[in-house]
Order: sequence, then C-alpha cells, then structure tokens
Amino acid sequence: MYKTLLIFALNLFTFSLFSQSIIPCHTDENEEEYLQAHPELRAEFENAKDELFSNAEKLLKSSAETESVVKTIPVVFHVIYNSPIDNIGVAQIEDAMRILNEDFRRLNPDASNLRPIFNTRAADPEVEFALARIDENGNCTDGITRMQSSLSVEALPRNDVKKLVQWDPTRYLNVWVVNSIANTSGGSGLVLGYANFPWMAASTDGVVIRHDALGLVGTAAYDGRTLTHEVGHYLGLLHTFQGGCNGGDGVADTPPVASANYGCNFNANSCSESPNFPDMIENFMDYSDGACQNTYTNGQSAVMNSAMTTFNLRKDLWTNANLISTGVINPPDCTPTAKFDISDQVICVGDPVQFTDESEDGVPSNYLWDLPGSNVGTSTDPNPLVTYNSPGKYAVTLTVGNTAGSTSVTNVYAVTVKPSWTHFQAEWKEDFEEPTLNVKDMDFFSTYDDVMFESSNAASSSGAQSLFLNNFDAVEPNDIDYFISPMVSTLFANDISLNFDFAYAPRQGVEFDRLRVLVSTDCGKNWTVLRSYAAFALRTASPSLVPFVPSSPSEWKSVSIDISSFEDKGPVLFKFEFAGDGGNNFYLDNINVKSANVGIKEMQMAESIQLFPNPAKNAVNLSFELESNKDFELSLTDVNGKMVRSQRVSYNTKEYTMNLDNVAAGVYLLSIKIGDQKVTKKLIIE
Ligand code: ZN
Ligand code: CA
Repeated sequence: MYKTLLIFALNLFTFSLFSQSIIPCHTDENEEEYLQAHPELRAEFENAKDELFSNAEKLLKSSAETESVVKTIPVVFHVIYNSPIDNIGVAQIEDAMRILNEDFRRLNPDASNLRPIFNTRAADPEVEFALARIDENGNCTDGITRMQSSLSVEALPRNDVKKLVQWDPTRYLNVWVVNSIANTSGGSGLVLGYANFPWMAASTDGVVIRHDALGLVGTAAYDGRTLTHEVGHYLGLLHTFQGGCNGGDGVADTPPVASANYGCNFNANSCSESPNFPDMIENFMDYSDGACQNTYTNGQSAVMNSAMTTFNLRKDLWTNANLISTGVINPPDCTPTAKFDISDQVICVGDPVQFTDESEDGVPSNYLWDLPGSNVGTSTDPNPLVTYNSPGKYAVTLTVGNTAGSTSVTNVYAVTVKPSWTHFQAEWKEDFEEPTLNVKDMDFFSTYDDVMFESSNAASSSGAQSLFLNNFDAVEPNDIDYFISPMVSTLFANDISLNFDFAYAPRQGVEFDRLRVLVSTDCGKNWTVLRSYAAFALRTASPSLVPFVPSSPSEWKSVSIDISSFEDKGPVLFKFEFAGDGGNNFYLDNINVKSANVGIKEMQMAESIQLFPNPAKNAVNLSFELESNKDFELSLTDVNGKMVRSQRVSYNTKEYTMNLDNVAAGVYLLSIKIGDQKVTKKLIIE
C-alpha cells in the first residue's frame, strides 16, 4: 500500500545525491510478498501480532514491579559485496553497532532533542547488541563474514542473498550488507533496508541493509538510523503510521499518524485524536529523517521485550546459554588472522592511499604496518593513510596481534607508484615477449581469484608470445582480471590511437564474458570506457568446449581506437579489463599507442634541434638547423603536463636561449611546434 508513494526525501547527510524517491524501508512489502505466496498464513500472522500486543500490554502493566533485565543479542554481519567498494571495513560495522546500542539504550546523544511533550513516553528498551565471537560451528569469529556475489546488486528478489549464508537465526541476528536492494523508478523507490518480523519464516530471518545506509563512516551516505529502524521491525514493531489515524501500530503511546512523515517537519499533525498530539516524527519507526529521530516509546519497548519472550525465533537469542555459546560472554582467546584492503593499488607520486584492516577470527589489540617507501615507513594505526614520494612497486606487511598470538600478511606488489616520466613520448608498444610480466611498467590484478594474466607462447599475433588469461579454468564466477598500462604521454601528439589484437572464443552456450578498455587522465582515480566487447563483439572464433587456443591469424581481431580527444590532456593510463563468467580463454597482443603524424620530416627536425647543455642549470640553448617559413612555438612542461615556460620564436631564428631561473630541478619535456608538426625532447634541469 505504500508502494505508490513518491516522496522526495531531503537528507541532511546526503547533499542532493538522490533525486529519485527514497522509500527507506521495505519491511511491509516483504511481509506482503511472503503472504501472497503463502496466503494460508495470513490469519496466523494476525494472531501472532494480537498475541504480541496483548503480551506487551501485560508487560507494561506489570513493569512497575518487575525488575528489568538488559537483553543482549549476538549479531553477525554478512558483507555480500559486488565490487571491492561494497566490501566495507570493520570500522563502519563497528560504527553501526555503536549507533544501534546507543539508540536501544537511549544513550544516543540526540535523545535530548525530543520535544518535552513526549518526555514521559521515551523509553530505554534495555536491548543491547554484540558482535558474535564464536560462529555456529564453534570457531573463532569477529562477527563478520565476507563473500563476493553479484546477488548483492538489487538484492531484493526472493531474498536470494540470504541463501548464500545465514547463521542459525535462533542464535544470531543476521544482518546482510549489500550493494543495493531495489531501485525501481515509479515503483518501490530506492530502498535502504528491510527486516523480517519475528513471526515470519526462519529461512529468511534477519535484516538486509545497503552498505551506504550503515553507520556514519566509510561508505555511509545516509544518517545511520536505518539499522535502528529495521531492528525495531525485527523485534516486532510496526510503523507508527500503520493503520493511519486509527492507530494500527498496536502501541498506545505513539500518536496516530495518517501516513509516513518524511524530512523533519515538527509542525506535522496528521491526525486529530483526543487529546491531540503532533505526529511524533522523533520516533525511530516513522520515515522521518534519521537525523530527527531519537526515541522509542515505553509501549514500543514493551512490544520488543515481549517479542523476545513470545516468538521461537527470538526467545533463545539473549539467554545466558546462547551468549556463552556465541562468545558474547567470555569471548575466547583467538589469534587474529591478518588481512587488509588497499584503496588504490596504482597511484601517482603524492596521491594518498588508504590501508584498511580487515583481519578476521580474533579481534586485534595491536597493529603494525610495514610500509617501506611510504612517508611514514611504519604505522601502528589500524587504518593508516599514507603517500609515496618516488615511483616504484612497494610491498606492504600487516602484523596484527592480541594476547592469543599474532599473524602477518605481506603483499609484495601491494602498491605501484607510477613513474610518469618513463614514457614521455606519445607511444607505448607492448608485444609481451618478456618472460616476466611484473618487471614491466604494467600492473596486473585479479579481483577475486588466483588466476592471473600470464605470458604465453601458445599463440601470438606478433612476435612469439602474447598475454593470456586462463579463463577456461577460472573457478570463481564473475572474476575481474585487469592490467594497467605504463603512463603514456599524449602531449603534442597528433591523431593518436590505441591499437591492439585480441583472440577469444566463447564456451559452447556460455557467452557472459566481457572485455572493456578504459582510459584515465587522472592517474587512475576515474576511468572512461573506450570500448566494451561482449557476446558476438567479443568472439573472434567459434564457441568451443575445449580450452581455446587461436590457431590462425583469422582468429585474431585487430582493433584501433581513436583517442585524439585525449591529446594534450597530459599523461594517460589505459586499463584492459576482462570480466570472466564461465566462458573460454582470452589472448591479447601487439599493443601500440601511436601518433599518426610523427613522420620522417618531424624525425629529421627532432634530430636537427640541439639542446645544450642538457642537463641544464640556469638556461638552455636551442639551435635550429632546418629552414622554416613558420614561427616556432616552444613550451616547457613538467612530467605532469604543467606548463612552465612558453615562447613564440620567429621562423628565421637559428639559436634561442630559454631562461630557467626559478624552475625546479627535475625531468621536463621541451616541445617545439612548427605549424601542425610537433616534436618533444627530454630536458633535465639540475
Ligand atoms: Zn520500516
Ligand atoms: Ca495528532
């Protein structure tokens, strides 16, 4: 019934990221979809709610004389990520747990924002949450599991992510963290989370939430209250606007609300009940901005505490026996297993790199990062942010420990700092003839499995070798292998093009593989797709049920991509990205970035122009031996493409002196342009 609402939510923390409708919660629809499939359960669900609300009323009446008990619920987060971005860090999960625990103990710093007219209704529900320290098999855990799956994108249909992993829902609150849930324009809108009510099925029990709706750090883009709201449903709460002004949320002390409130409207009073109170937009179970929410009521607290004694899926969670068996009480001494994530593996000099601790099993109490070549050298911060000042490939070692022990992990080629001066001419030729790929100025990555690009002498389009990806034997579906080129300068190039040959055959009946070629002008921070090949555009040979090896030149395809729009943009990087999904082998060869207009005459001019001295100190002299009927344009740029000097010189000049005062020492490019012909020379300034 809420599906038809189209609401434009203003969100204090999101700037204006979203112009589409945001329906923060899909819990009611989730229940309704379940009942559509199981109509025989509708009456049973109604009875369950009636029983819950009646138990809650009894609890409210007796609570004056009953000694309250804080109930703790063990939690496991299943991070189901599509791309490394969704694979959120431990810090973000801990931040989400902080907010959840504050809100359920009324320790939230904004509790005092509640309007005084509601003060007597505000409750401390006395529910706490703790990350599990023992998994359902009795092994050490930090309460977080991680799994890559494309089901993380638009994760709503049929609760599929829950089939990937779920711990016993009678012992753990399962929270699945996903890329996205639903985003159907005109339909349910952009959904941030949804929960199962405690009277629903065990096989889907838990909470699903978008990674960017979780906590306030890391990838968080909302107000961090989505989990509070969804756990309210998980413990039996309905929306405050359930049933409109007739007050269908089963709780007496939440004022009736006609329909969901959005934003932060303190004047909202949608029902004229007697006595008439404004809509309680501070209530966690409305749709108002999380930044304005701060309260559960006594009635809601009674419902949640009753749910934890009424329903089989909730009554064992918080028992002493379960808290011991899940390690919440007396957590075991477990050695942490070192693991880390890197924000960017290919960077340029001076760019920041964020290292994120993702250690598993035990909880580290100390961290030691060995970061040779970085500005810090070593760090004891759990998540250090560092820079590198010299080009090269750098190793990173993380050692984590606690009283139980310590472990280390090293990534030998963790970070490549691009040597932007190595290819200062507008050309890059790569024939893959070298025995070892890693010694070249390229960087190779496999996102999820150990199958990497390699040199192969089984086939080639030029020379004796090519680049090969054993996609036939790749076991991990949806793996992405890619490599990044050396830094290629496009300065002063003419009609520049990227050329290469590739060969690929599908596996019989399986054509889901994809090749993309991308370019970056900002050292890999942003990429533009130049070409994307899939299905028939990708195949160069007939489908095969055996590992594909191109056997003739006709089974190679030659590609030439015009990249003249990137000329004079400074150095660029190219990325070749192969997304494998159960197909066959891929070969690449004969990469060649070339500028069409570098001709014989320019080569002769390049030979003829003398720079001296080189290296130079305060000035450099140029001598021109060729006759020209056009003026010369001189420009001096640093390796990042920044112009340092620019001068127009008359065509009849035979010698010119360029002043280099105040030019920092380093490698520079001096270009000489005559008409539409350009040549570039390397100049070292001391
Ligand atoms: Zn909801
Ligand atoms: Ca009212």
